Amino acid sequence: LRDRLKDPSLLREQSYIDGGWVGTPEFPVVNPATGVAIAKVAQLGAAEATRAVEAASRAFPLWARLTAKQRSNILRKWFELIIANREDLALILTSEQGKPLTEALGEVDIGAAYIEFFAEEARRVYGETIPTQKPDARLLALKQPIGVCGAITPWNFPNSMITRKVSPALAAGCTVVLKPANETPLSALALAVLAERAGIPAGALNIVTGDAPPIGKVLCEHPAVRFVGFTGSTEVGKILYRQSAGTVKKLGLELGGNAPFVVFDDADVDAAVEGAIVSKYRNMGQTCVCANRLYAQDGIYDAFVEKLAAKVSAMKIGEGTEAGVTQGPLINAEAVEKVERHIADAVKGGAKIVTGGKRHALGRTFFEPTVLRDVKADALVAHEETFGPLAPVIRFKDEADVIAMCNASPFGLASYFYARDLGRVWRMAEALESGMVGVNTGLITTEVAPFGGVKESGLGREGSHHGIEEYLEIKYVMMAGV
Ligand code: ADP
Repeated sequence: LRDRLKDPSLLREQSYIDGGWVGTPEFPVVNPATGVAIAKVAQLGAAEATRAVEAASRAFPLWARLTAKQRSNILRKWFELIIANREDLALILTSEQGKPLTEALGEVDIGAAYIEFFAEEARRVYGETIPTQKPDARLLALKQPIGVCGAITPWNFPNSMITRKVSPALAAGCTVVLKPANETPLSALALAVLAERAGIPAGALNIVTGDAPPIGKVLCEHPAVRFVGFTGSTEVGKILYRQSAGTVKKLGLELGGNAPFVVFDDADVDAAVEGAIVSKYRNMGQTCVCANRLYAQDGIYDAFVEKLAAKVSAMKIGEGTEAGVTQGPLINAEAVEKVERHIADAVKGGAKIVTGGKRHALGRTFFEPTVLRDVKADALVAHEETFGPLAPVIRFKDEADVIAMCNASPFGLASYFYARDLGRVWRMAEALESGMVGVNTGLITTEVAPFGGVKESGLGREGSHHGIEEYLEIKYVMMAGV
């Protein structure tokens, strides 16, 4: 990998704490497409996480005291450096995560777009003056950075999940200790190299690789940490929530989803097929907003399944760096087993495999992108997030039924539907219990919109002007005797 980078110094194997590169590289990072270890990273734990929190605490007053414009300029420089190095960053990303290189480039671009956006928002953190309730007093609400922030990020978006947390935190004046996913630490470390070059001072951004539970425990329990942002499984999110009770920390949680994707009889079926492909098969189905269960109405059911399967069976599978590939490997063996389990359960319930259905001839964790028809509404795949390239298509009769099925889930991250009737569009958009709704689109993520879930899908929002609020506290000031 190092030989293929224009700037080999972006490939780092040590952690970044207090402005220094520390730790002995020992934990292998494996390319899921080849099974080859491409680098090693340091395997740190509670002691180093504590050091990082202390460094972030020392850096906090200095960073917070800069003017908004100074912080904005530094963030802007980081954004520019990422864009200038986007090809190397994408190659590192694909090598550790597996997604096609074009998708990796897209992720680097949106990752950078978060930094660009929050560099701008840094200068727009306004407080309030409040009409007073007594003549001799004046009332204000100040907005101040919350303090040191912990961040724990997943492997499915090794670049953009980091920038989406770190850039609003830094913009607000907070400092950060980040633990990236063990599968994909190299993208995080490369971002740290560029952050350092951009002038983000020592201690303001720390990256600690290693043993997740003890590092997570320090971030949740250390009294100096005032906010923990996490993207990952609901299971781990609940552990962090519990661990944070002792210090009454504010949390941002982006957890699992189980997105419904509904196609009504009045939809543009070709557009719905395109949307389903993007929503379901992007990143090999490994995104928390991926369509998980597809509902197609009676009148268009057969046409939708047929057109979807035709597109899916034509997909090119292979190593993400190969030209034309749209489906890389899954992240690991457990991911493959989960897809197999969902297919077997659905088939047992009467579903038919229209295309795909098994491990790919390429071996490893490559899996054939799959479409199932005649899936029952109570199949396992309708209730559990698959996180793989499997589209189960369920038939439905009317709007009320499909709304009930969509909402019969403890999760509520994204929902999608295709329809043209204006009344139906409004009713559906309002009725769906999810934090985000895509109407006649399968791709909703953008730095300018608030991303997040309801119910057990999480707390808080990332991106948009709401995203920076997570990292701010309101301080009410009454000035009396005036
Ligand atoms: P996934 O199933 O997508 O790997 P996880 O929730 O297991 O999702 O992982 C998301 C992030 O949480 C990763 O960085 C992982 O290392 C971290 N993690 C896993 N277990 C814990 C834990 N007990 N405490 C803190 N972080 C954890």
